Amino acid sequence: YDKDSRCFDIVPVPARFGSVHCDPMKLDSLFEKNREWAKDIESQSPGFFTRLQQQQSPQYLWIGCSDSRVPANEIVGLLPGELFVHRNVANLVVHSDLNCLSVMEFAIDSLQVKHIIVCGHYQCGGIRAAMSNTSFGLIDNWLRHVKDVYRLHLNDLQNIADESKRYDRLVELNVMQQVYNLCKTSIVQSGWQKGEFPYIHGWVYDVNDGDRKS
Ligand code: ZN
Repeated sequence: YDKDSRCFDIVPVPARFGSVHCDPMKLDSLFEKNREWAKDIESQSPGFFTRLQQQQSPQYLWIGCSDSRVPANEIVGLLPGELFVHRNVANLVVHSDLNCLSVMEFAIDSLQVKHIIVCGHYQCGGIRAAMSNTSFGLIDNWLRHVKDVYRLHLNDLQNIADESKRYDRLVELNVMQQVYNLCKTSIVQSGWQKGEFPYIHGWVYDVNDGDRKS
């Protein structure tokens, strides 16, 4: 355990994995960056990590895409402890996905988050893959849900001649569908039966300018 970086390195890497997957220089730089980050936070807000040890109390659940260009906390300027996050390829809410449902249930019932944000993004590789007829392996089954969104809006989408505009529109329609799916889950429905929360929001983040569009 490195006290300054607050990281455990618990899995010594066997040599047989070679240097391609585990470049020690690169990992060292990650630890170094982490150490600097922790130091910055602590100097800006003394006692920050001690306070975090007590309990997390985020007000928001973020359901976003796994894309590395859309890091949840960073783009909305929230610190550790302020945002509960679930990410998957193309920010999908699937009623049989136990991973997402478990996150939602914990966020609503235990953390009592007030808002759930489904955030898609333009230039989404998952959406682009779903628009094509190419096979990408196992993920084809996951992207089937996006292809269903395309099918539901087939006429509207086919009327958009410009392919990049059609792509953008599918990103938006996909977020709308996931918001709908979210609202129909038993978890959100029972939350609404007990009170007014959670509020549900659908956003699209623009990787071109770093802005978010509702
Ligand atoms: Zn994406």
